[in-house]
Amino acid sequence: MSTTTPALAAASADAGFERVQIDRRDLRPDDVRIDIRWAGICHSDIHMKRGEWGEALYPLTPGHEILGTVLEVGSDVSDHQVGDVVGVGCLVDSCGECAACQDGEEQYCAKGAVPTYGAEDYHGEITKGGYSGEVVVRDDFVVRIPETYAESDHAGVTPLLCAGITTYHPLKEAGVGPGTRVGVIGLGGLGHVGVKIASAMGADVTVFSRTDAKKEDGLAFGAKDYRATEDGSVLEELAGSFDLILNTVGSGIPLDSYLGLLDRGGVLANVGAPEDSLQVSAFSLIGNRRAIRGSMIGGLPETQEMLDFCGEHGITATVEVIDAGQVDDYYDKVVDGQVRYRAVIDTETLAG
Ligand code: NAP
Ligand code: ZN
Repeated sequence: MSTTTPALAAASADAGFERVQIDRRDLRPDDVRIDIRWAGICHSDIHMKRGEWGEALYPLTPGHEILGTVLEVGSDVSDHQVGDVVGVGCLVDSCGECAACQDGEEQYCAKGAVPTYGAEDYHGEITKGGYSGEVVVRDDFVVRIPETYAESDHAGVTPLLCAGITTYHPLKEAGVGPGTRVGVIGLGGLGHVGVKIASAMGADVTVFSRTDAKKEDGLAFGAKDYRATEDGSVLEELAGSFDLILNTVGSGIPLDSYLGLLDRGGVLANVGAPEDSLQVSAFSLIGNRRAIRGSMIGGLPETQEMLDFCGEHGITATVEVIDAGQVDDYYDKVVDGQVRYRAVIDTETLAG
């Protein structure tokens, strides 16, 4: 027994999205059924769908930035009630017992956390993501959307479920606060949220974008400075003047040049996930005792903390709301860097 719901699915890396009906399981005692209102398009959806991280499991229904309302709860659920506005991010299950899970870092679960879509879960089912009308998720993987947000904010809150936590974690981890000198490379979905969060933490933020096209926006998001990198001299001019550089670019960039921006002991936090290897000279790390650190999204407790932080500071992503029929076009637009700054699907358009 299960429920069907409208969704988008891609049959292969090259195929366009089609409107389909997918099954959602009946509730287990610890499950929550969510009526999805908004679904963000992350660049990871594009890497996955296009097979850039290896062959995906098709038909693929992506989407790990999900916001909606609770429709039904299982008999053991006490944290969520029918009618609550909730979110689901990149994970829908983990073992709950290993050291990482105990530390609230479920994304590094030793058994392997279950991604929201395109993976086999612990029950042998293939997960399907947010480009759909409803989803059923274990209660521990559902987060609360702060009540300080108005309903009209909800489309903009949706990208926080991935872009928000993925940038919040490395900023927090690095101890960013008033006066920390932070550079953000790439003003896309992740980057623009990172600029807003780092600025709210009190950091002095500089945007490194390819061109000047997004300058006005970058400064409006809270950055104190904005530099176009197409003129490579800017990286020499600002050498040694940052504590933290956050790289959000999803294709290979010359990391050595950006490492030079770091002051003594500085860290380049890498969250971008290009299909090709990153190239780094040892001398870029030895000089000034620099480090490169990677991180993958963030755990559930920190995701809730991030949402509460963003709620307090009135932070939402800047979004373009699109119809289900526009997703293929928007995949190309994201790759071309044309989206301002995250596309969010209006799920009411899924049924066609
Ligand atoms: P996005 O919206 O496409 O933004 C990436 C930005 O990078 C673009 O807007 C562009 O900014 C810049 N850029 C793109 N191509 C470039 C190039 N060839 N050279 C230099 N800059 C370039 O993507 P996103 O959704 O923010 O995701 C970014 C990356 O993070 C993806 O690889 C995604 O898979 C990854 N990701 C990782 C995690 C994690 O847990 N670590 C989580 C989510 C996403 P400008 O126009 O300003 O230059
Ligand atoms: Zn994502």
